[in-house]
Amino acid sequence: MVRAMANVWIEKALAEINHCNKCGFCLPACPTYRLTGNEVDSPRGRIALVEGVLKDEISADDGLVASLSYCLGCRACETACPSGVQYHRVLEAGKKVLDQTKPGHRQLTWVPRTLLRLTHQPRRLRRVARWGKRATRWPLPSHLKMLAPMLDYRAEPVAAPPPALTSPSEPVLFFHGCVQEALFHDANQAAKALLTAAGYRVQQRPEETCCGALAWHAGREEEARTLARRNIEAFERDEGPIVNTAGGCGAMLKSYPELFEEDPAWRERAERFSERVSDWLSLMENSPRPLAFQGAGERVVLQNSCHLVNVEGGGQRPAEMLSRVVGDTFLPLEGQDRCCGSAGIYNIQHPDWALKLLDRKMEEVKGARPVRVLVVNPGCQLQMTLGVRRHQVDAEVEHLARYLYRAFLRAQRQPESGHEAG
Ligand code: SF4
Ligand code: SF4
Repeated sequence: MVRAMANVWIEKALAEINHCNKCGFCLPACPTYRLTGNEVDSPRGRIALVEGVLKDEISADDGLVASLSYCLGCRACETACPSGVQYHRVLEAGKKVLDQTKPGHRQLTWVPRTLLRLTHQPRRLRRVARWGKRATRWPLPSHLKMLAPMLDYRAEPVAAPPPALTSPSEPVLFFHGCVQEALFHDANQAAKALLTAAGYRVQQRPEETCCGALAWHAGREEEARTLARRNIEAFERDEGPIVNTAGGCGAMLKSYPELFEEDPAWRERAERFSERVSDWLSLMENSPRPLAFQGAGERVVLQNSCHLVNVEGGGQRPAEMLSRVVGDTFLPLEGQDRCCGSAGIYNIQHPDWALKLLDRKMEEVKGARPVRVLVVNPGCQLQMTLGVRRHQVDAEVEHLARYLYRAFLRAQRQPESGHEAG
């Protein structure tokens, strides 16, 4: 039966499987394997299961469903793999087989279903988030009540317009992202202000819509493609880089060509689009006017975005920017690039595992005694906010852009302190 399902995804997955020599170098990088120590929760184990199913050697049973559904999709295994195995293609092919043999395996409960719908309606999403803050008082299942502290965030308006330090020259198109803009719009405002101050002409496209990541990972391919087409059409009229502040969105935008494997015309457009996609920090690194940043004598740690690290290849940039902040102490954590358990809607679908991953991470955070936990993705911001509340860590979780903007304004106010931009 599986052989009869040959399509591009299955063929590409088999090619990746053939590259895998079962060395196991990916195992220590895998958060779920580190959690359980079970082969079925490792990339190599999952690859072996999908291989068996694709080759009709084993059946696509509940064991495969569990193994694949507990995968975070963080792609740390790809970064660790010396053979360059594109594990996500194997994962996706396994899920596609299950779509046919076990329809409903990706069935979403009402919370993620509602979230998916709301990603197309940012205003409503923001309203629901406000109600969600009061959820501890509602008669909800305990795992949902537990998530309420995630929404306990007060956006900090970026009050001052960006100082006109230089005539903006290079055009930049800003992609806001639905969850990022709905819940953490101050991070976007701060990033746009910094880009402008650094000499870019920041533009936006009102036709922009959700990047499609949640739909894609929920198996709603056509919905993801529709969203991708709308974004491609909205941004392809202009030239210049397309930047964002959400690692998850950036990875999805970069992956658009994979949505159109069987549609050459759209694939070409998607390739041109994705080549222009970059995280905003890549522009800050080499901006026309380098900016100076003055800290406030704080200890800060970073929770990186796995998709920025493992898909976009820009994982070093947040730490590089932090090294430019004078006066604060950046404390690198051993697992700062490892998934925090948020992973799209994983923390709603598998709160038990997501919490275990988070608790391990919080042990590291507590050891550093930070004042701030900095993030570069909205899912991480929600998850780490839950972490500091749950572990009673007296630290604020905020997006790196907001932190940098404050440090930039501070440096502007203290020109006499001799902070020259690096
Ligand atoms: S995916 Fe890569 S690292 Fe993991 S077992 Fe296969 S070849 Fe080794
Ligand atoms: S994507 Fe992440 S959780 Fe899944 S197998 Fe790879 S490293 Fe493990």
